Amino acid sequence: MSTPKIHDGWLLAARHLASANCDPRPAGTAIDLLVIHNISLPPGEFGGKAIEDLFMNRLDPGQHPYFAGIHDLRVSAHLLIDRHGDITQFVPFDLRAWHAGVSCYDDRECCNDFSIGIELEGTDDTPYTDAQYAALSDATRALLRHYPDLRPRRITGHCDIAPGRKTDPGPAFDWHRYLASL
Ligand SMILES: [Zn+2]
Repeated sequence: MSTPKIHDGWLLAARHLASANCDPRPAGTAIDLLVIHNISLPPGEFGGKAIEDLFMNRLDPGQHPYFAGIHDLRVSAHLLIDRHGDITQFVPFDLRAWHAGVSCYDDRECCNDFSIGIELEGTDDTPYTDAQYAALSDATRALLRHYPDLRPRRITGHCDIAPGRKTDPGPAFDWHRYLASL
């Protein structure tokens, strides 16, 4: 297995689209948590550019009724892995992406401060693709190698740091398969 490389906070194997939705992490904060999410726009539909448009603050509110309610959110993730396993990076890992929202892990709040966020294009109940598992595994191994405070046991789901508010990546995500691949 080859492990993709990270340089200056960018995963070299990814497409790079720099989002404005990021800011510095608090000084001295180690990156020691990885958060797995899902997203699809409109919900349940795959393909298209709506997710990247949302993260780039250019989602057209007139394109779909659902978009009108979310187009002015200021959100991002470090990585998005689409249904084909193609990775787009929006925020360098050393900066804080805006993916977790109100959240808590191990009694520490504001998980964006110390985490990396990866979005899988999907829904809670739709099986993720083999290509997504492969790309997620490759990216995770690169992160584990590059950020020594990250550990496999410090990989979590959005549902676990924002319980009652978030359900992703959902029961469709095969945690055993993923963690066994690292
Ligand atoms: Zn999420």
